[in-house]
Formats: sequence, C-alpha cells, structure tokens
Amino acid sequence: MLSGIGISPGIVLAKAKVKKEHNIEIIRESIKDINAEIDRFHEAIECSKKQIKEVRDKTLAEIGEKEARIFDAHELILEDVTFTDQVINKIKDCLINSESAIKEVSNNFIAIFNNMDDAYMKEKASDIKDVSERVIYNLLGIEQCDFNSMTEEVIVVSKDLTPSDTASFNKDKVLGFITEFGGKTSHTAILARTLEIPAVTGINDLLQKIEDDDFLIIDGNSGQVIVNPDNEVIKEYEKKKSEYEKQLLVYKKYKDKKTISKDGINVELVANIGMPSDIKGVLNNGAEGIGLFRTEFLFMDRDRLPTEEEQFQAYKEVVQKMGDKPVVIRTIDIGGDKEVPYLCLPAEMNPFLGYRAIRMCLDRQDMFRTQLRALLRASNYGNLKIMFPMISNIDEIQEAKKILEEIRVDLRNNGILFNENIEIGMMIEIPSAAIMSDIFAKEVDFFSIGSNDLIQYTVAVDRGNDKIASLYDEFNPAVLRLINTIIENAHNEGIWVGMCGEAASNTELIPILLAMGLDEFSMNASSLLQARYLISQLSVNDIKQELPQILQMQKGKQIQKYISKITNIRK
Ligand code: PEP
Ligand code: MG
Repeated sequence: MLSGIGISPGIVLAKAKVKKEHNIEIIRESIKDINAEIDRFHEAIECSKKQIKEVRDKTLAEIGEKEARIFDAHELILEDVTFTDQVINKIKDCLINSESAIKEVSNNFIAIFNNMDDAYMKEKASDIKDVSERVIYNLLGIEQCDFNSMTEEVIVVSKDLTPSDTASFNKDKVLGFITEFGGKTSHTAILARTLEIPAVTGINDLLQKIEDDDFLIIDGNSGQVIVNPDNEVIKEYEKKKSEYEKQLLVYKKYKDKKTISKDGINVELVANIGMPSDIKGVLNNGAEGIGLFRTEFLFMDRDRLPTEEEQFQAYKEVVQKMGDKPVVIRTIDIGGDKEVPYLCLPAEMNPFLGYRAIRMCLDRQDMFRTQLRALLRASNYGNLKIMFPMISNIDEIQEAKKILEEIRVDLRNNGILFNENIEIGMMIEIPSAAIMSDIFAKEVDFFSIGSNDLIQYTVAVDRGNDKIASLYDEFNPAVLRLINTIIENAHNEGIWVGMCGEAASNTELIPILLAMGLDEFSMNASSLLQARYLISQLSVNDIKQELPQILQMQKGKQIQKYISKITNIRK
C-alpha cells in the first residue's frame, strides 16, 4: 500500500496508464546516407500528421470545434514547405540527423516568432515547439501520452500534471489520477474535484513503483493507493466504494433544501467553477449560485487569447444558466501554478509571489479591458458580480475600479447595455489586505476570502509543496484570527463576506466559519451537499459562545480537537 494525500474524494479501481518522463537530449550525429535520412524525416512527418488528425477528430467529436482548431494549426505547420524544406536543407548541408536538424530549425523559428511584438506570432512559436517535439518523439520511437484520446478506462499515473493536462482529460476514460507532486490546493487538485474524479498526490518515486497496466485502487478519501491487490482487498474496497456511494445518497436528499443551521441561521452555499461546462455539476448539486468563476481556465488549454466576443458568450452562458442566482466572476488570475504558454511569460524564481493576477492585468491593460468589457456586457443577462483577485494594496483596487469605470462610460456612450448596479468585490487572499480589510471594505461591495493563498502567504508555505504540507494548516491560529478580523471588518462596514478557497468546504472548519459569521461558502460542486447536510446538524449560536476561547488557543491541533468535541464531528 502506498500512502499519499487524498486530494479528491471517492474510490476507484482500474488499470494504470503511466505518463512517462522523457528527458531527451538530442545528439547532433553525422550521417552518411542523405536520402535515407530524408526518408526517415518524411516518415516521421506522416506519422505525426496521422496522430494530429486523430486527436483533432476526437477533440471535435468530444469537446468542440474551437478546441479542435488547435490541431489544424499543428497540421498546417507540418505542411508548410518553409519549415520542412529548411529541415531537409539542414540535413543535406550539414550532414546531420533529422532530430538535430528539426531542433535547430524549429529553435530558429521559435526565436523569430517570440521576438515579434504580436501575441498571434508568439502563439505560433508555441505551436512550432509542440509540433517539432511530436516529430522528434516519433523519430526516436517514444510513445506520447495523450490524455484526450484514451480508449479504455484508466487511472493516470504521473510525476506531475499541469492544470491543462487535467483539463484535457477524457472524463469518460480517466477515472482517477495519482501524482508525485502537488498539494491539496494546487489547481490540478481543484480541477480533479471539479471533474469529480478521485485523486491522490504526494507519493515519492511513483514511477518506480507503478507500471502500465498494473491494477490499482485509489482511495481519494484516505490518500491510499494499492497496487495489484489480491481478490480479498478488491472485495473490501468494492464494499467501501458502495458505502461511500450510499453516504452520497444521504447528502443528495439536501439538493433542493435551503442551507440553514439547526438553530435557523441561513447562509449561502455556492459553487466554484472554471468553465461554463461545469454548470451541469453545479446545478446537480443544488448550488445557490456561483461564488467563484476562475476565468483564467478560459485562457488555458488553447493557443491564443480568447476574444471579447468569446468571453462574452462564456460569461453570458453561465449567468443565463444560473437564472437569477448570483454569479461571482473573477478577473483572470494567471500566474502562480496557472501557466498560459502562449503568453510566453518569463520563468520566475517565486511565481506565487510574482507577476500574477491583478498585477499582470494592471500592467497588460489590453487583456484586462477586453475582459471587463465582456463581463459588463454579460451583466445585462443575469445576476453577475465582478471580483478582483490578489489585491495587496489600496492603489490596485482603486486603479482596477477606475479602469472599470472608464469602460462603463464607453459602453454607455455606445448605447451598450449593462447592469448599472453591478456589485464589485475583491478577494482577500494576501495578509496585507486582510490586515487592512477595514479600509478595503469601504471600496467594495463584498469580500471573498481566498484561503488557499491566504494560508500560504500567512504561514509562508507553498500551497503545492507536499514536503511541507503539514505546515499548510487552515487551523493555524494566525490564519483563524485573520479570517475573523476580515469578517468583523466587512460586517462593520455593512458588506457581505464569503470564502472561496478550499477551506470553505473543510467539514471541521465550517463550524468555526459559521460562528464567525461568514455569509457565503463557495466550494467545488462535489462538496456542496455534504456541507449543506453538516450545516443542518449544527447549532451556530452554541459554537459562537466558544469562539473567544477558540481564538485564544495556541495550536491548530488543539483547535481541531476542541471543535470536533463540541460538534461531535468525526475526523
Ligand atoms: C484562493 O486563493 O483561495 C482562491 C480561491 O484562488 P485560487 O485558488 O484560484 O488562487
Ligand atoms: Mg488565490
């Protein structure tokens, strides 16, 4: 049995599909037979075209036309004689192997396109990189792992997965995944919960322990992984799986109920989403709205910036599908662990402390203004609220509001309709904003506490680093005091306050948040019903009386123990 961190609940049994790591070093070899080498190159091109066509057709059938177009662009590169002729000439002139010829020619093109001050050309550079890697892999006979075109049910095993790998999973075939790296609040983990697939992370030397076609059991609740179990263990886990599914049926009964505590305190229970297609799961799980739409996912897993119209359609679709329910849409939070390759941003030493979210938006106002226009236009179709992420000082929120106001004026002048009374909020996810929340509360209509980042910045623990995961503690008294301060400051100014980080769905923390007076809890759709069930069992006023004592405690563990004693919550 292997033990890791359960990052997405549920139990699944299936065969392993291992994503192999390739650290390929291309060696510049001299060749003697030019014609044979050119034939080799042509064969690899044909094979790559066939693969690209297959992925394209599958993407078109299962995801959409827009996504399928990425692969059209890849095919065009292979058909472009400027590219292929240069490779052939290099083979002939320098008498070198195809792999190095491709590498040298593609590096040249990549550098040229990257140096152009045009987003479209920069996108071309990343297409060329993708395609030339594919051809080189084919020349070297290396199998490529394509998450979108899996044909049988598997559990993906990988050293690491990027959020866009996870977003590209064929949901019918990838039943779960296991990785070596990544914490509970990494974006890959968040996506796994959105996709509702069990996942475990933090298993060392994973690729030495599991091979393709090993039979696996993942328990995403306990973080355990069993490799090639015997029949008895399989039976035991099949039983566990059915018990877990029975518990889910109890929660399901709360789907159309209000979120109300045993002593009648009403709170709002809403969902986090990353894509308009997540709405189905949100409505199936009885959400009262959307508390966080992470719009950066609209910018990922594609090869160019979405246009104003594309964004407008996506936001409109979400607000319309949610009817009159509130939908909080956050402006892009690119950076940190959310990479957008076609923006070609330079690597940073500390990406979570770097060029990210509102910092990038205030710098690259073209992108920001396009998004704000699309958001305001969509506000005419439902109950849309705009939220700004990663605000660390007052200038940032004032500047963001100023730009928004300029766009409002422009829309008005052009007779374009939008909601004049739209609510504007900000995330409180940086300690400086939490400490100054009394001041910030005068600037906005609502706060949403981003506990994922607030915890990592308060205790200085990278949220994705599993080696120090035990220090990343939502019960750390410093974190709880900050959250309490934010809620008090918001209420003193008469604004509402929610939480959209993963802590909002932590069943041990929910009682404390209720006692502090949190108004809105926003979480992955898969956690909603369990939270509603739990809240219905709690007497908020009883816990409130314990709050001063809880906030005086010195250790997170002590707080956890105390809260489970007074609420009878099982760990
Ligand atoms: C957070 O930090 O809690 C949050 C919700 O934002 P993200 O996870 O997207 O950084
Ligand atoms: Mg955040």
